[in-house]
Amino acid sequence: MAYQTLNPYTGEVVKTFTPHTDADVEQALAAGHALYKSEWAAPANMKARLQSLAKVADIMEARKEELARIISIDMGKLIGQSRNEIDSCVGIARYYAENGERLLAPVPYPDVLGEAWVEHHPIGILLAVEPWNFPLYQLIRVIAPAVAIGNPMVVKHASNVPQCAQAMEDVMREAGLPEGAYTNLFINPEQVAAIIADDRVQGVALTGSEYAGSIVAGQAGAKLKKSTMELGGNDVFVVLDDADVTRAAATAVGARLYNAGQVCTAAKRYIVQEGVAEEFTRLVVEHFNNVVMGDPLDENSTLAPLSSRRAKEDLQQQLDRAVANGAKLLCGGAAVPEKGEFFAPVLITDIERSNPAYFEEFFGPVAQLYVVKDDDAAVALANDSHYGLGGTIFSGDVERAKRLAARIETGMVFINQGSDSVGELPFGGVKRSGFGRELGDLGIKEFVNQKLVVVA
Ligand code: NAP
Repeated sequence: MAYQTLNPYTGEVVKTFTPHTDADVEQALAAGHALYKSEWAAPANMKARLQSLAKVADIMEARKEELARIISIDMGKLIGQSRNEIDSCVGIARYYAENGERLLAPVPYPDVLGEAWVEHHPIGILLAVEPWNFPLYQLIRVIAPAVAIGNPMVVKHASNVPQCAQAMEDVMREAGLPEGAYTNLFINPEQVAAIIADDRVQGVALTGSEYAGSIVAGQAGAKLKKSTMELGGNDVFVVLDDADVTRAAATAVGARLYNAGQVCTAAKRYIVQEGVAEEFTRLVVEHFNNVVMGDPLDENSTLAPLSSRRAKEDLQQQLDRAVANGAKLLCGGAAVPEKGEFFAPVLITDIERSNPAYFEEFFGPVAQLYVVKDDDAAVALANDSHYGLGGTIFSGDVERAKRLAARIETGMVFINQGSDSVGELPFGGVKRSGFGRELGDLGIKEFVNQKLVVVA
């Protein structure tokens, strides 16, 4: 696929980039490997690496407006949400800059065989394959731990956000990271496979679809390389009969429509108990019908276009299939602006288990509504999914919600708030949502040699 910015609001091709050749890839790997073998990657040099990371945070903060505009033009995000994304990146870089030393400090173990501890060492070059939906945040989630431990990185970003890819490489250079520490590569799947197979590369972190994840995880498995997979989700938003329905509905709408619904942890399935279903539905439909679709750079717009024409067409086909299989529209089909890849919010219900929509992830502003009798039914429905990323439970009784949270098969559950992500907290899923964690104390140890040392 061509690496180009095709503004999803204006339809214009803004910028096209020349793909990297195999010789470019070789140069990046040679530089990365040389760096891995140098003093730069040594545990003793961690302070200097963390200082670079702090600088990354400072640069992104200082260039917030410019970077936010690049995101909005590359993939159509509302400008306010693009600014939030930069804040998030700054927070993650600072968290690891300030806590890297503590998180990677040697861990003492019981002296059964002698004095024992585990040290943390880099493992070598890490490949990251990343998606367009949070085009800078997804990168920093992998970059910050890699810089902290000393793993050089090569990165294949999504082909529709090349300006973001380039901007992040520029930030790394400006922060003073040496050659080989971070190389952006505009490459194709065959080149990705060749990088994974290269002996100098020791890990691959992918965020993206189940489809791409299964291919890349398979390639990593075949070459016995460590991988983490942050894949799709079909998160539930459970509203119990004792919940504050007004707050739950407002949160549910935001949790579905943020980033035009293109979020892995978006609230894709509303599971609502009978006593509050009517009111919840009325409020959600009202909110859905009141969005303002418009220029992502206009502060008054509340719903952005989808990232591409293809994304819009795929979502429409998915919705048509759901309806053809018996789903009922509670709202949707409103007129959209002529300009831009807009998709008006949709709420569907009556989705039988035989309907393909029951198991599918809708990557856009389409929510599913299921009405259930009791807590057991909510849990059963939540867990009847191939995915297991996140989820939300709204209840007036936090203890009751905690009991349910313990029974839901996902990597993350949020009580009385929508899904969120910050540097301090681990992020990731189970089942087909992938494996491994990013962020927090767990994320920093995914691509690390946890080396045991024992002294007799
Ligand atoms: P995608 O098509 O899988 O793309 C993700 C990345 O994989 C892109 O860089 C893409 O490159 C690359 N890619 C695709 N096929 C490849 C192959 N055969 N070999 C090597 N690389 C390949 O995903 P998407 O549709 O852009 O993103 C949406 C998906 O990501 C959703 O399912 C969403 O839930 C998931 N997601 C998960 C998380 C999480 O943390 N769990 C976060 C965000 C998004 P090209 O652009 O060149 O195709």
